[in-house]
Amino acid sequence: MITLKDATLQRDACLVGGAWIGADDNQFDDVTNPADGSVLGRVPRLGQAETLRAIDAAEEALPAWQARSAKERGAMLRRWHDLLLEHQEDLAVLMTAEQGKPLAEARGEIGFAASFFEWFAEEGRRAYGDVIPSPQSDRRLLVIKQPVGVCAAITPWNFPAAMIARKAGPALAAGCTIVIKPAGQTPYSALAMALLAQRAGIPDGVVNVVTGDARAIGRAMTESPKVRKLTFTGSTGVGKLLLRQCADSVKKVSMELGGNAPFIVFDDADLEKAIEGVMQAKFRNAGQTCVCANRIFVQAGIHDAFAARLSQEVAKLQVGDGAEEGVQVGPLIDAAAAEKVVEQLNDAVAKGATLLQGGERRGANFLTPAVITGATPDMDCFSEETFGPLAPVFSFQDEAEVIRLANATEYGLAAYCYTRDLGRAWRLSEALDYGMVGINNGHVSTCEAPFGGVKQSGLGREGARQGIEDYLETKYINMAIE
Ligand code: ADP
Repeated sequence: MITLKDATLQRDACLVGGAWIGADDNQFDDVTNPADGSVLGRVPRLGQAETLRAIDAAEEALPAWQARSAKERGAMLRRWHDLLLEHQEDLAVLMTAEQGKPLAEARGEIGFAASFFEWFAEEGRRAYGDVIPSPQSDRRLLVIKQPVGVCAAITPWNFPAAMIARKAGPALAAGCTIVIKPAGQTPYSALAMALLAQRAGIPDGVVNVVTGDARAIGRAMTESPKVRKLTFTGSTGVGKLLLRQCADSVKKVSMELGGNAPFIVFDDADLEKAIEGVMQAKFRNAGQTCVCANRIFVQAGIHDAFAARLSQEVAKLQVGDGAEEGVQVGPLIDAAAAEKVVEQLNDAVAKGATLLQGGERRGANFLTPAVITGATPDMDCFSEETFGPLAPVFSFQDEAEVIRLANATEYGLAAYCYTRDLGRAWRLSEALDYGMVGINNGHVSTCEAPFGGVKQSGLGREGARQGIEDYLETKYINMAIE
């Protein structure tokens, strides 16, 4: 049980065309707290039929929404932003209860989510077109930007609010309407945001949220010709499946998929800054972010000192229920997630790694943050995304070797590099085959900058000026003036 100042924020119905609905067959799914397994409540288990109705509602709302000025749409987004911040505490409590992350991180995520509404409220007013000098004197060539149309969004459980805001913000600002399917583990954050969208005065049908059967909802979204764009954040496997499903109706797609971030520390780095950075990049959200440091490469000369300091810091991390004061690492989302990390740890130790710290399973979902040294490329923690609190340290000799190792993955989301050599910082920034590079810092996400990956980490960018482009079509007009 959780207590909210505004209890109406915990919704047990879905928002479709401005109405709060249940499943046609009255089915529900339980929502549980990963910290103790308690049932927080239940949300409707919708399927294909209800999703198609939500798509119809989004289509119906589209003409009036896109006809409004970007300034008007921006004012509503801005109100949505304000309401998120007004209810930041309740939304954080709700998020921690269903997701597990420490309250301080949940509060931070609500602020981060709100920042996308604020940013795109402004950015929508700058969806500029072009006037192109014509090769013929009696013609004028113009380019205008128009909303893509009805969008569908499928979002993950690791950032239950921010991943919605990063999609709904630019969609609405551009003049699109949206149907959102949050992850089954974290529907309450999404439903609370939908309620606040209503309170912000966003018209019925512009924002719709459906919870329930992921496959059936995903099929309805991808098969409907009315949906012009699918935006997805989640695993690479599901992303590939959805890409295939979108092929038949040639939808626009944005994909934010998995990562396998290298965190590179050269001998000349500021050791303490690197430790601070890796603690943030590795253990935020219990290691469950797609930009988490997955492989920590440390140059031989600084390796032992780094590993010792890292173990010291990791030993201080407080593990427990995220709702408790002082907890820094909450539970993993479920037992399977914890199991996967334990398997990676066992695999590494079996192949010769040394466990320096942690790695203790506590209950089904908790794992004490672990540090291993002697990690090598034949280990699963090198090739697979860990998505948990395991920090494998690899030793390397020189720049060419670490660039080769860092890029030896099908992923290409975030990379981090610590060095005080300016030339090296540039060389690494260019050589790392990643969509985002943090130089001497372990945290790159911000609404003003383009978030996204290369290779199998995804398609498209979220946030920044580029983020709204993904929700706009380019129309070229060739006008004869005589
Ligand atoms: P994770 O491993 O982080 O749970 P997933 O890719 O499984 O990542 O989940 C991300 C989102 O994709 C969630 O909202 C989930 O419900 C949804 N999802 C999972 N499988 C499917 C599917 N077959 N079709 C549509 N959505 C899906």
